Amino acid sequence: MQTFAIIKPDAVARNLTGEILAAMENSGLRIVALKRLHLSREQAAGFYAVHRERPFFDSLITYMSSGPVVCVVLAGENAVPRWRELMGATDPARAEPGTLRRKYGQSLEANAVHGSDAAETAAFETAYFFSALEIVD
Ligand code: UDP
Ligand code: MG
Repeated sequence: MQTFAIIKPDAVARNLTGEILAAMENSGLRIVALKRLHLSREQAAGFYAVHRERPFFDSLITYMSSGPVVCVVLAGENAVPRWRELMGATDPARAEPGTLRRKYGQSLEANAVHGSDAAETAAFETAYFFSALEIVD
């Protein structure tokens, strides 16, 4: 199974890319694709299209396009739930101790990392950023 992850602008800006990539690998997940990007507002809006009616959408798009991000495809058994568990709950204040969002998240919005919520979502999100040639499993 594969999942899609983003190291979000707040974490990249604080030089946490290496620590977060290490946490992915230390958990046993494998990095099978990796890319650093600075999203436009349009690109961020397309990625988060499912949330376009939500009150936090505009602020989320501003934040996600505010600086570089690092996009990652992770592979391993049960990769989707395993990466969600490592990240912790959306709100860093409610995330379990030891999770990445608890350790590195600054707010409900600036919560350091993204992870797909299901295998079908992972397929859409991966294809949004990576061509088949860029995924080396
Ligand atoms: N978010 C926000 N306010 C909210 C809920 C979510 O700013 O009330 C942001 C936050 O960055 C979150 C992203 O929108 O990671 C996507 O929200 P989702 O509910 O999909 O949470 P996730 O799947 O990232 O845990
Ligand atoms: Mg989500």
